[in-house]
Amino acid sequence: MENVADYKEIVDVINDSGGDGFKYCYQCGLCDTVCPWNRVIRFSMRKIVRQATFGMTEIESDEMWRCTTCGRCPQRCPRGVKIVEAGTALRRIATEYGVFPEPVKPIRSISASLVGEGNPLNEERKKRGEWAKGLSVNTYAEGMELLYFSGCYLAYDPRLKKVAAATAAILNKAGVEYGILGSKENCCGESIRKTGDEALFKRLARENIKTFVDNGVKKVLVSSPHCYHTFKNEYPEFMVNFEVVHITRYVYELIQAGRLEIKGAYGKRVTYHDPCYLGRHNGIYDEPRETLKKIPGLTLVEMVDAFEDSLCCGGGGGRIWMETPKGERFSDLRLAQAVDVNAEVLATSCPYCIANFEDSRLLLKDSDALEIKDVTEIIQEVI
Ligand code: SF4
Ligand code: SF4
Repeated sequence: MENVADYKEIVDVINDSGGDGFKYCYQCGLCDTVCPWNRVIRFSMRKIVRQATFGMTEIESDEMWRCTTCGRCPQRCPRGVKIVEAGTALRRIATEYGVFPEPVKPIRSISASLVGEGNPLNEERKKRGEWAKGLSVNTYAEGMELLYFSGCYLAYDPRLKKVAAATAAILNKAGVEYGILGSKENCCGESIRKTGDEALFKRLARENIKTFVDNGVKKVLVSSPHCYHTFKNEYPEFMVNFEVVHITRYVYELIQAGRLEIKGAYGKRVTYHDPCYLGRHNGIYDEPRETLKKIPGLTLVEMVDAFEDSLCCGGGGGRIWMETPKGERFSDLRLAQAVDVNAEVLATSCPYCIANFEDSRLLLKDSDALEIKDVTEIIQEVI
């Protein structure tokens, strides 16, 4: 296959992205043994790494777009190769040349929507705060305890709006002084960055940072692990530092501080799915579980792949916007794992996971036997 980018450019872009650890790869293949793709098809990150080392990446191939940036292989790589960063660097070259293989083509319209309306769902910017209507949610004002940043999917997606509403109910019950900025907010930009569109990420990030500074924001509460990751670990690249807290940790803190009381019971068998960007990428494993364990009647059971070994839902790295054929969806495998432990509820705390799991649930023989819930939706029922 012909290369549109030459050797030197590929190697330079990888080096600039901190992915130069490629050269330390000694082709052990451990990355391939843990990659979730190898549960559904044959896929070799080891081969992509090898080709990139020699500047031989096939930019036109859809192989390098498969990585969901789940973080499993860098965790295991004995040579410390920055596999996610290097993979993103390769996509950056393809994005610059406008080379999008068929399954990746939706990214073009996603980018247009992000530029025009600040969200990937082609929804109107002015409607971003409408989810909060009638829920006693104020507009953020300087001096409030925190800004609640719902993220795009919780603001617009009909299923996920219920998670935003559950969050508002929890915050109201605990007497938290918070507000939202509605149409003034943009997508956080995390996922478009992982597709290689660095320029668009920077644009979204700069606009959000300006909004936060202009409105005197000091602490941001988020529901999406993707917002959490980029606000906490990537926005500091712009020399800003505001406190970021994920809702699972915040709810746990509210309970510990006696600000939120669990009054009801939840008599169901629940299993918890660690989202990649909350667990592996940011080390938050315990708080959601500890919170669930405090609920009377709830039985918490673990799936075979849990904590650091959690099975990716398939939605990271921009894959949420790409078509994944039936038979290749990790979320189908994850639901089978939840069914295997006789769970009645698969709980998690990420909009991409919930969207993928709800899709997979429809394919279950008895789809009513397993509910998909955000942790906040369970808490809402017992406070
Ligand atoms: S695990 Fe690391 S060293 Fe081994 S093949 Fe993969 S990238 Fe190379
Ligand atoms: S980050 Fe995850 S999806 Fe990407 S190559 Fe590694 S194991 Fe596979």
